[in-house]
Amino acid sequence: SIYGDYIKSVIRTVPDWPQSGVNFRDITPLLQNRAAFRKLVDSFVHRYQEMDIDAVAAIDARGFIVGAPLAYELGCSFVPVRKKGKLPFRTISETYTLEYGEAEVELHSDAFRQSDRILIVDDLIATGGTMLAAAKLISRSGGHVVETATIVDLPDLGGSQRIREAGYGVFAVCS
Ligand code: IMP
Repeated sequence: SIYGDYIKSVIRTVPDWPQSGVNFRDITPLLQNRAAFRKLVDSFVHRYQEMDIDAVAAIDARGFIVGAPLAYELGCSFVPVRKKGKLPFRTISETYTLEYGEAEVELHSDAFRQSDRILIVDDLIATGGTMLAAAKLISRSGGHVVETATIVDLPDLGGSQRIREAGYGVFAVCS
């Protein structure tokens, strides 16, 4: 993407967090840097401004950080895709498997209109489980998933490939 190398240079890797052997990609230095944060949001705006997006569906919680300014700039709706038990109204949910156990993402059943063009955003794709669950949830609810978008893709973990094989496009600001 246009600012990919620059954005990558301001993401910090924290070794052995949250557990031994994991290299956690920490976006907080990127958010702290005002020029970088602006370029990050602009990277998404640049890609999606001519794509007739009706709603940005952002994944709890770091997806919200880019999803909200992006929806504002695109002049479209914002839809939160939340972890289980956070949404107060009627919900539909999708369960997916993690390395240890299961997780669930939820959406309000009236979050968008049938056939709305939805862009899904999150901060990072690792195994792809979270993004794929969100995409399936939106498809099941009658939305059209235009693309899935992330700040960081970790291609060695195969997540973005798995999402593409399920029939959804993937855009990553950096890899
Ligand atoms: P996946 O479902 O395995 O693709 O993991 C992606 C989800 O876990 C996203 O919602 C991320 O916020 C979170 N995640 C996993 N690894 C990292 C990381 O290294 N940095 C930041 N978030 C991560």
